[in-house]
Amino acid sequence: MKKLTIIIPCYNEEEVIRESYRRTKQVMLSLPIPSAIIYINDGSQDKTRFLLNEIADSDPQVKVIHFSRNFGHQPAVTAGINHCTSDFAIIMDADLQDPPELIPQILALQEQEQANVVYCVRKSREGDHFFKRFTARLFYRVMNSMSEIKFPFDTGDFRLIDRKIMNEFGRLKERGKYIRGLISWIGFKQVPFYYKHEARIAGKTKYPFSKMLRFGSNAVLYFSNKPLKLAMSLGFTAVVIGLILATWFTLGKIYGFNKAESGWTSIVSMIVFFGGVQLLTIGVLGQYIGVLFNEIKARPEYIIEEERNFDV
Ligand code: UDP
Ligand code: MG
Repeated sequence: MKKLTIIIPCYNEEEVIRESYRRTKQVMLSLPIPSAIIYINDGSQDKTRFLLNEIADSDPQVKVIHFSRNFGHQPAVTAGINHCTSDFAIIMDADLQDPPELIPQILALQEQEQANVVYCVRKSREGDHFFKRFTARLFYRVMNSMSEIKFPFDTGDFRLIDRKIMNEFGRLKERGKYIRGLISWIGFKQVPFYYKHEARIAGKTKYPFSKMLRFGSNAVLYFSNKPLKLAMSLGFTAVVIGLILATWFTLGKIYGFNKAESGWTSIVSMIVFFGGVQLLTIGVLGQYIGVLFNEIKARPEYIIEEERNFDV
């Protein structure tokens, strides 16, 4: 019989863990197939660690991985996938924004379509305030116009993946993993499942603007070299403008239609403009060099301090 694992990353989620477990467990008991949970404690500083251990002690179907520090959401999900041995995995957030009650429908859709991935699309985003909704919408549209492969809009990491996907995922060697992008990239049969994204039941988002920015720029840097091409087009445009201006000024000198003394403003603005163009293009280059630097160091994506219930 096939088995399901639910992968849940947690960072400082003491307010939601118990309720999250209660609702997830209730759904698990009603499933037609055996299931387990892997919680990844991503270096929480609050009582998350204690609460997860307590749950694991009372329920052998709950496995827990404790990281040595906070490595981030994507490394936490990666650890969950790497530790999963079952036929299906569902990736979910701890805060119940992705309702566990949808799991039976997701499994049914997988069965019906014989899909390798069921990705959940947010048809409404209850809990998110205007700014998050706006930046997320913008992000997925910009991302799609930049990347060589197309991603479904308005999805998070909430999705079901099967063994085939997990095996291929395990072969991906890059350290800066943009998981929803990589799963799209792997291919096979992927079908959407539409749902209502709920509000967080308690606590606040663990994705402050700085983390969101890092997450977004990582996605762009790993999935697109358009910024590099854009930098080059910018340089090219600057060269063309420079040539036109040089010709214009030279002819002006020869035929006397240009008074050179009056050029102060144009010179200063051009120095600033081209200085800006240069710094910008160097900056773009620098971003990609940063990615190369990180990948070449080849450090592990996460460090595990302790694992619980993996031997049962
Ligand atoms: N999370 C994590 N490590 C982090 C940040 C977040 O494991 O550094 C987890 C968090 O506990 C939650 C999920 O990732 O289960 C999504 O985070 P959150 O709900 O705060 O993000 P939002 O829904 O606001 O985008
Ligand atoms: Mg959330």
